[in-house]
Amino acid sequence: MDCVYCEKPLECDACREPYSPKGLAEYQALSRPEVPVICPGCGSVLVCHWCKMPYNSQEDGDEPGKNEFYIGFV
Ligand SMILES: [Zn+2]
Ligand SMILES: [Zn+2]
Repeated sequence: MDCVYCEKPLECDACREPYSPKGLAEYQALSRPEVPVICPGCGSVLVCHWCKMPYNSQEDGDEPGKNEFYIGFV
């Protein structure tokens, strides 16, 4: 699985686990910035080790429930 931003092999910056999506939903989440991707190894939001791009919501604001809204919306 390559990083969608820098196209290097995607590794979690926190634990250095290579990330591979378990299924189609996880795979699609990688290209959808509104869907946060959680590293299965350490449980934190996946951040590319190479380019440091976080795979979480690009929206500013941290209102609780906002991400859940977007997950259900599309
Ligand atoms: Zn990257
Ligand atoms: Zn990790």
